[in-house]
Amino acid sequence: MDHFELRGGVLHAEDVPLTAIAAAVGTPVYVYSQATFERHARAFADGLAAIPRKHLAYAIKANPNLAVLRIMRAQGYGADVVSGGEMARALAAGMPGCDIVFSGVGKDAGEMAAALDAGVGQFNLESEEEGIELAAIAAARGIAAACALRVNPDVDAGTHGKISTGKAENKFGVPYDRAGAIYARLAGLPGLEMRGLAVHIGSQLASLDPLEAAFVKMGALLGEVRAAGLTVTHMDLGGGIGVPYRAGEVFPTPAEYGAMVARVSAAWDATLMFEPGRVIAGNAGVLLTRVIRVKPGVTQPFVIVDAAMNDLLRPAMYDAWHDFAAVSPTGHTMGANIVGPICESSDTFAMGREIDAMTAGDLAIFRTAGAYGATMASTYNSRALVPEVMVSGSRWAVVADRFAPETIFAAERVPDWLA
Ligand SMILES: *Cc1c(COP(=O)(O)O)cnc(C)c1O
Repeated sequence: MDHFELRGGVLHAEDVPLTAIAAAVGTPVYVYSQATFERHARAFADGLAAIPRKHLAYAIKANPNLAVLRIMRAQGYGADVVSGGEMARALAAGMPGCDIVFSGVGKDAGEMAAALDAGVGQFNLESEEEGIELAAIAAARGIAAACALRVNPDVDAGTHGKISTGKAENKFGVPYDRAGAIYARLAGLPGLEMRGLAVHIGSQLASLDPLEAAFVKMGALLGEVRAAGLTVTHMDLGGGIGVPYRAGEVFPTPAEYGAMVARVSAAWDATLMFEPGRVIAGNAGVLLTRVIRVKPGVTQPFVIVDAAMNDLLRPAMYDAWHDFAAVSPTGHTMGANIVGPICESSDTFAMGREIDAMTAGDLAIFRTAGAYGATMASTYNSRALVPEVMVSGSRWAVVADRFAPETIFAAERVPDWLA
């Protein structure tokens, strides 16, 4: 459920017609709905109402815009970060360090030191080697870093290969059957306070079954680790719930997820931690674009829009589907290929799709672009970096500027021998 709806024949974001945003800011532009972020944040938390002790950390890689982080903070969420840059954003948005979880398979020494200085609440360690390095950095500061050990449960998430993270061959976490021994070794290091186990098997999961299978394995591991006399007070269950990208698709609800988690974890006696990203942000944003022209194709015309794969990478990278809709639909439809202007055939949003009839100059949106959209944007083909707008009721504001190509190449230097 989101707040991008037709009113009087024109698509609105909450109370703002998208035509007004396009006129003022130009296209392409991401448009977010604050009410939708808030609704999803509340729905996810409500789904976990039966869990007595919990910590919610929004996975900011899904959409790290500072305005989004302010909304999530106001909803009581901390942040799951995967880089020093994301940590800096979370802090800049007012997230207290203690509510930040530092995940990621390649934290370097500088990032670890910065995170310790910021008082980050938990490090999710991805290897024994990382734990040893963090222990040394923390011990040199005379402190012990609170840590969970990320475990690779070898469960197939049943999602796209590029966003599966919980199979044995993936780079994430430590092998399930070695996790107990690694936990014990790290727990003996003076610079670490081992307090938990963590798991995250992938993104855009369409079924709760692989999550449940992973959580059941984590519960068994929890028992083993405690039986060895070690302390486990926190269980981090990651993110991963998928969202519908096509009208009519059905995904697990937060309530169903929460019920499954409550059942599986009933005997754990631990604080549960969650790292939702896409389920919060996905349907809270659209990419607003304008048709440049319509060009005949062999079987169907190409609708060439001013958004491209550099603005929304998901179709090119994951073969992802985004629903496409006219801002001012006429009621007529057409069969078309939707493409961007970039000089690559992968710059294709849809092939042979039945869409609202489009002509040059028309506005349209790609739906469900709030997660893994703007944050993956680049300036490939020397296109501007796409801007972002936040809407709240009848108010709206630009929350990320469009970076013109001139601004970007102003940071480039021609060496003196070429000047
Ligand atoms: C990406 C990621 C998430 C969020 O995944 P979603 O599918 O967006 O919910 C959570 N935890 C970790 C460690 C991640 O890498």
